[in-house]
Amino acid sequence: MRMNLLEECKGAARIGISGHIRPDGDCVGSVLSLQMYLRKCLPAAKVKVFLEKPADIFSEIKGYDEIDSDFPEEEPFDVFFVLDCGADRIGEAEKYFRTAGKRINIDHHIREAGSGDVNCIDPGIGSTCELLYDLMDEDRFDRDIAMALYIGIIHDTGVFQYSNTTPETLRKGAKLIGYGFDFPRLIRETFYLKTYVQAQVMGKTLTESVRFLDDRCIVGLVDRETMETYHVGPKDMDGIVNQLKNIKGVECAVFLYQTGEQEYKVSLRSDEKVNAAQAAACFGGGGHARAAGCTVKGAFRDCVDALICRIAEQLQA
Ligand code: 5GP
Ligand code: MN
Repeated sequence: MRMNLLEECKGAARIGISGHIRPDGDCVGSVLSLQMYLRKCLPAAKVKVFLEKPADIFSEIKGYDEIDSDFPEEEPFDVFFVLDCGADRIGEAEKYFRTAGKRINIDHHIREAGSGDVNCIDPGIGSTCELLYDLMDEDRFDRDIAMALYIGIIHDTGVFQYSNTTPETLRKGAKLIGYGFDFPRLIRETFYLKTYVQAQVMGKTLTESVRFLDDRCIVGLVDRETMETYHVGPKDMDGIVNQLKNIKGVECAVFLYQTGEQEYKVSLRSDEKVNAAQAAACFGGGGHARAAGCTVKGAFRDCVDALICRIAEQLQA
C-alpha cells in the first residue's frame, strides 16, 4: 500500500517541498505539481517550494516564479517533502528537512533506504512525476497539474523512449494530454530545442570525443575554458550525453563538465551490459541502471582512467 499524501499532511499548517540540486525536468515537474496539488486539496495549508533556480525552459509551469532559491531562515515546517532524490542532494534546503515535524521522501532512484520519516521509494518507476501521479487523486487533476506531471514524465523517459517507459506510463501520458495543453510544443521547447551556443558546444564535444574499450565506451568533455568562451553553464549541458550514447557501437557514454580546478560532474548513459548506477556509486554518485551521475575529483586524465576502469570491469564481465 502506497502512502496517502493528504492523510500524511493532515493538520499541517506549513508545508515545504524541495528536490535535488541542478534540478531537471522531473524534479521541477514533481515539486511544482505537488505544490499545486496540495494547495488545491489543502487550501488552509501554506505550501512553499525551495529549489535551486531551474532552467527557464520550465518557466511555463505554474508556480515557477514563486520558487524560493534564496533559502532564507524559516520556522520549522510541519511537513517537508524531498522529491526525486534523498536528503543528501537537496543542497541548502537540507536545513528545512532536518528541522521539520514530519519528513517525507518520494523518489524513484536506486537507494538503500529513504531519508524521511515516511518514504515512498520505487526504483521500478520511470519518473518521480509518474510516482506522484499514482499518489494523487486523478479527480483533482487540472490542466496545470497535468502539464507539470507530463513534463517530468517526458524528461525522465526521453519522451517515452527509454526502457523505463511502461504501458502504465503511456496510459498516464494519454490521460495527461487529455487536459489540452500544447504537448508537441512542450516536447520541442523543453526537450529538443537548443540555443545556438548549446548546439555549438554539443558539436565541439562530439567532435573532440574519444572512444575507449574497443570503441564500446565514449568520453566527452566540456572544460572550463569552453564554458567561459561560449558563456555556457551546467544548465546548457543537457542532452550532450544522450548524443554521445546515440553513436553506433557505443555501449556506455561518459560526459564530463568541469566544476572546479580538479573537479568534474559526470553523466553516464549505458546499455544492458553496464549498470551506470553501480559505476557512479563507486564515486559517491548514483541514479538508475541506464542513466546515472557522480562528481569526480583529480586530474582529468586520472578521473577518466578511474571511470573507464569501472566500466571495463562491467563490459568485460
Ligand atoms: P544526469 O546525467 O542527467 O545529470 O543524471 C542522470 C541520473 O543520475 C538522474 O536520475 C540523476 O538524478 C542521477 N544523478 C546525477 N548525478 C548524480 C549524483 O551526483 N548523485 C546521485 N546520487 N545521483 C545523480
Ligand atoms: Mn527523476
